[in-house]
Amino acid sequence: MKRYEAVVVGAGPAGMTAAVYLARFGIKTALAEQLSPGGLLLQTCEVENYPGFPKGIKGYELADLFSDQLESYANLTRVQGEISELKIDGERKLLHVDEDWLEADSVVICSGVRHRKLGLPNEDRLLGRGISHCAMCDGNFFRGQVVGVAGGGNSAVEEALHLTKIVSKVHLIHRRNSFRAVPLYVDRLKSVKNVVFEMCTVISALHGEKELEGVSLKRLDTGNEEFLPLNGLFVFVGFEPLSRFLPAEIARDEQGFVITDTEMRTNLPGVFAAGDIRSKLCRQIITAAGEGATAANAVNSYLEHAHG
Ligand SMILES: Cc1cc2nc3c(=O)[nH]c(=O)nc-3n(C[C@H](O)[C@H](O)[C@H](O)COP(=O)(O)OP(=O)(O)OC[C@H]3O[C@@H](n4cnc5c(N)ncnc54)[C@H](O)[C@@H]3O)c2cc1C
Repeated sequence: MKRYEAVVVGAGPAGMTAAVYLARFGIKTALAEQLSPGGLLLQTCEVENYPGFPKGIKGYELADLFSDQLESYANLTRVQGEISELKIDGERKLLHVDEDWLEADSVVICSGVRHRKLGLPNEDRLLGRGISHCAMCDGNFFRGQVVGVAGGGNSAVEEALHLTKIVSKVHLIHRRNSFRAVPLYVDRLKSVKNVVFEMCTVISALHGEKELEGVSLKRLDTGNEEFLPLNGLFVFVGFEPLSRFLPAEIARDEQGFVITDTEMRTNLPGVFAAGDIRSKLCRQIITAAGEGATAANAVNSYLEHAHG
C-alpha cells in the first residue's frame, strides 16, 4: 500500500490546481484520475471567461496547460484509475483504486459532476446513438444535419452556439420561457439564423430503434404534442455529483453535493472538497481552480497541526 500525505481525487481544474499548490508546499501528494486530465474542460469547446486569455482558449488546450504545470514536481505522483471507495479509519484515509489501496493523511475530493439525464425510456439505449452530452466530442458526427439541444443554462446555450457552426439546424428545447444562461450568450444565439427556439417545451419521448430518429415535444402552454425528426440530441439539463465512492458519513446537501466551510473543509477531519462536487451556486473553471488552491492551503494547515 502506497502512502501519501495528501491524495487528490479527480484531475479537473479543481484537482489539478490543488495538486500544484500541494506540491509547492512540499507535501507528498498523489493525484488520481480515472480518465484523461482536464475533467469537463475536455467537453468545452471555447472558454471565453478564464482570465488571462482575452481571445478565449479551447477547453482541451486549457486542460493541457493545467496538466503540463504538474510535470516538474518530484513529490507529485499521478495515479491512473478510478477511486472506487474512500474509507475513513481514524486519522488514516484509505482509497481503493483498481486492485490496490492508497493510504493518505488527507484527501481532497475534486471528482466533479456528470450530466443529468432526461429520465426518459430508451435514453440509455440511444446514448451514443444520436444522444450525446458533449457537443465538442460528438458535434462533427452531425455535420450538415438537424439536431436538438435540451436545456436553458450556460452549457446548453454555449454548446448550441458551437453546433450552429457545424449542423444545418439546431432546435433549442427549453421548458421555461426565459434562459438561465448569461445574456451575452443568449443574445449571440438569437442572432444566429439556423436556430429554432422551442420554448415552454419539454421532450416527452425519444424515438428510434438502432439510433435516434426524433423526439416527441410537449408544449407546456397548450399541452399539444408533436413529433420532431432529429439526427442528434444534445442534453444539458443539469448535473449530479460524482460521489458514489464517498463514505455515508460525509455531509451532503439534498442533491448529494458535498458541504464544506469556506476553507473547503468537510465535516470529516482531514477530508476536503473543491470544485463542482461542492454544494454551491457557481460552477465554473475559475471557481473550481480557486477552491483547489484554498483546499491545498487548508490541507497544509491540517498536516502541520496533525504532525505537530
Ligand atoms: C459543456 C460545458 C461547457 C462549459 N463551459 C465553461 C466555460 O466556458 N467557462 C467556465 O468557467 N466553465 C465552464 N464549464 C464548467 C466547468 O467546466 C466546470 O465548472 C469545471 O470543469 C469544474 O471543475 P472540477 O475540477 O470541479 O470538475 P471536473 O472538471 O468535472 O473534473 C472532475 C474530474 O474528476 C474525475 N473523477 C471523478 N470521479 C473520479 C473517481 N472516483 N476517481 C478518479 N477520478 C474521478 C473525472 O474524470 C474528472 O476528470 C462548462 C461545463 C460544461 C459541461
